[in-house]
Amino acid sequence: MSYNIEKIRADFPALDIKIHDKYPLIYLDNAATTQKPRQMLDTEYIAYTTRNANIHRGVHTLSQQATMAHEHAREVIAKFINAKESAEILFTRGTTEGINMVASIFCSSQMRSGDEVILSAMEHHSNIVPWQLQAEARGIKLKVVPCFDNGELDMETMRSMFSDRTKLVSICYASNVLGTVNPVKEIIAVAHSHGVPVLLDAAQAIAHRKVDVTDLDVDFLAFSGHKIYGPTGIGVLYGKREWLEKLPPYHGGGEMIEHVSWEKTTYNELPYKYEAGTPDFINSVALAESINYVSNIGLNEIQAYESMLLSYATEQMLGIDGLKIYGTSVDKEAVISFLVDGVHPYDLGVLLDQQGVAIRTGHHCAQPLMQRFGIEGTARVSFALYNTKQEVESFIKALNKSLTILR
Ligand code: PMP
Repeated sequence: MSYNIEKIRADFPALDIKIHDKYPLIYLDNAATTQKPRQMLDTEYIAYTTRNANIHRGVHTLSQQATMAHEHAREVIAKFINAKESAEILFTRGTTEGINMVASIFCSSQMRSGDEVILSAMEHHSNIVPWQLQAEARGIKLKVVPCFDNGELDMETMRSMFSDRTKLVSICYASNVLGTVNPVKEIIAVAHSHGVPVLLDAAQAIAHRKVDVTDLDVDFLAFSGHKIYGPTGIGVLYGKREWLEKLPPYHGGGEMIEHVSWEKTTYNELPYKYEAGTPDFINSVALAESINYVSNIGLNEIQAYESMLLSYATEQMLGIDGLKIYGTSVDKEAVISFLVDGVHPYDLGVLLDQQGVAIRTGHHCAQPLMQRFGIEGTARVSFALYNTKQEVESFIKALNKSLTILR
């Protein structure tokens, strides 16, 4: 399909919102969360109104239909990321839960005091704090790969960081602050050459480029539904079968058991071993619909379109006196973090909002990265498949107007 931006925009009711009853919404906070297409919203409504029954154990028709829809959604997701089988797709609440889950089950069963996990300088707090909790509890050491001033990872240092105590690498596919797309295939190959598995935080990659777990040969990969035009509160953890078979369960409860007795409880087969409690069988189906939506447009088309928006916005922003962009890596998602001399990003955010432009300001849940650059926070614009060149132009105009007020 050719890129039909008008048709795409018509699918997103939220893009018609007026801010302060006046300005058309220019939504440039897509790295935080994305707006939702009608197709996904309709699917959610249909699921609630025609297939709302608890799944897996029901003998009645509605329960069986809900079960089939939920398991079909798992297959759609498996195909989307090219997993070998849908049993490797675990439903979670989001990226954060997926990372916490791997940190907990991996560290408790595969690591002991003094063992090491390699992270990077550009991680979101959700790929830092779960490891710090494990470090405190078990004496695990965290090693942090530095990044250069342009936001690219220092791969040479990374290569030198592996020791015989290194047990896992956990790293973001793309940075939510710098936009940097890390050379993940290379990282995985290096880690595997040391016999070390890799967890990828794909929160910022999943909606913007083709993610292929088989081609990457990645061991675990986490993402959130709400960042790919899907519902909030559901996400996915992919895990290679060999790891999921070997590792212990995370949460205990219904669904995840085979048989329970006071003497000995046995666990369910994959993927249910990791899905305690009633699954989110409505949002799973809605997430699959948003994935179908993205797939129908095509990830390569989306990547090319967003890359055009990134170049266009970058070029215009660099023309503004005193504006500095943080993150200028060669391979970059459509995320631009910036500061303007003498201007607080919060003030900029407020003034832009007054003109209908939604951007994010602050530390973006990456305080160690802020520290690395010697700053408190940035202003950040981030693009999605429905943004337009005209919106970039309106943003630049609003930015210039705000700057004349602020300095
Ligand atoms: N990692 C990255 C790189 C992110 O950008 C985010 C969300 N901003 C997360 C993890 C956490 O995602 P969630 O809050 O959906 O769990």
